[in-house]
Amino acid sequence: KKITIAIDGFSSTGKSSIAKLIAKKYNYIYVDTGAMYRAVTLFAKQHFFVGKDFLDKEKLISNLKDISLSFQFNKQLGFAEMFLNGKNVEKEIRTLEISQLVSKVAAISEVRKKLVAEQQKMGEKSGVVMDGRDIGTVVFPNAELKLFLTASADKRATRRYKELIDRGDKVSFKDILFNVEERDRIDSTREDSPLIKAKDAVEINNSDMGIKEQFER
Ligand code: C5P
Repeated sequence: KKITIAIDGFSSTGKSSIAKLIAKKYNYIYVDTGAMYRAVTLFAKQHFFVGKDFLDKEKLISNLKDISLSFQFNKQLGFAEMFLNGKNVEKEIRTLEISQLVSKVAAISEVRKKLVAEQQKMGEKSGVVMDGRDIGTVVFPNAELKLFLTASADKRATRRYKELIDRGDKVSFKDILFNVEERDRIDSTREDSPLIKAKDAVEINNSDMGIKEQFER
């Protein structure tokens, strides 16, 4: 029998790596909810940012209905890519710039309401593994299996730094470390659905664990 698997945790704890592996081995649908928040942030950046830092929240909120998100499975990659209003934005949403804006956008209740509803719809059938910050607490409080991943900030920043360097982005380790810790801070202290471990979640600290060991656990 297929179940619903909720994976939550701090930034860059390897949630998507383990989720993708589970999805592949057990033929589950993987949903990366962070990609959805990132896509809304990209849209906000294109339309509702004044200067570099100021987000016109009210405008974003009143235009949320113009944001259409979808995932399309890419056979070659083996996972689904994020589409924003029909355009593949998979690469654009992973930049450090979007990482620096996303937690601000994710703290807006109206944004969360829209995305949570879409996520719940995607998970109506079981056989879904979904990762994010509020999956076990808000999106699927009844999920049969909940995992909560943690790792030291240094390990997490090192992983993220390598990912971005590998794809050719010019970033500094210091900026990545700052961003990882800053997102954790904003995500854990926001009023709406702060990042917390669900009571019935299994915590895995993977600072010194490879992906195979994590999967077996
Ligand atoms: O998972 P990822 O690091 O791509 O998520 C980017 C950001 O999106 C998080 O730092 C958080 O602000 C937000 N997010 C969220 N709730 C989720 C998934 C992501 O608030 N379920």
